[in-house]
Amino acid sequence: MTNPKEEKTVVLIKPDGVKRGLVGEIISRFEKRGLKIISLEMFQAQKEQIDDHYPKDEKWIKRLGQKTTNNYQEHGMDLMGELGTEDLLEIGKMVRNWLVEYMVSGPMIKIVVKGVHAIKMGRKLAGSSMPSEAQVGTIRGDFSVDDATAANRDKRAIHNIVHASETLEEATHELGFWFAAEDIFDHKRTDDI
Ligand code: GDP
Ligand code: MG
Repeated sequence: MTNPKEEKTVVLIKPDGVKRGLVGEIISRFEKRGLKIISLEMFQAQKEQIDDHYPKDEKWIKRLGQKTTNNYQEHGMDLMGELGTEDLLEIGKMVRNWLVEYMVSGPMIKIVVKGVHAIKMGRKLAGSSMPSEAQVGTIRGDFSVDDATAANRDKRAIHNIVHASETLEEATHELGFWFAAEDIFDHKRTDDI
């Protein structure tokens, strides 16, 4: 087993986070929690890169389609009328395309964060994917009130300020995909124990 203190996760400050001037605030939350920033850069993503960043397997795409479908049903919205299909894979692909458009709509900040349970901690600090349901005190819960009903109606991804890897598999893929080994640092913080 790897040393728990060595766990790494990838955080992206999405275009809405950058446009709203939340970069410092977001970085600060990770640092204050005791997680270490070991790489950081602003960049403009290309569509093909976002396509490779998110999982491409049918299971993941259907999960996205299922989430969206649940949302339409919970809010009594007309899925067929608005999206023209009830097929989970088709809906998942649609949302994934909206997501690509969103992630290339302006520069993002890519960050590697390291520390105990970095992946789980990153998700905790980010909060629920749906800002309207995210706990106050989380990044999404403090700085956004967007939700799927509003986003689906506008045919766009939910604007939720940050991305944080969900699993070890995602973190490993994203780390290798977005960062060169020489851009990842191994410095000590004064509170490193
Ligand atoms: P995350 O890991 O919390 O970012 O959430 P997911 O991996 O499930 O989804 C990726 C991104 O797709 C989210 O951050 C949202 O921007 C967007 N998204 C997820 N679910 C929906 C949905 O039901 N409708 C819309 N419009 N966007 C969604
Ligand atoms: Mg995710």
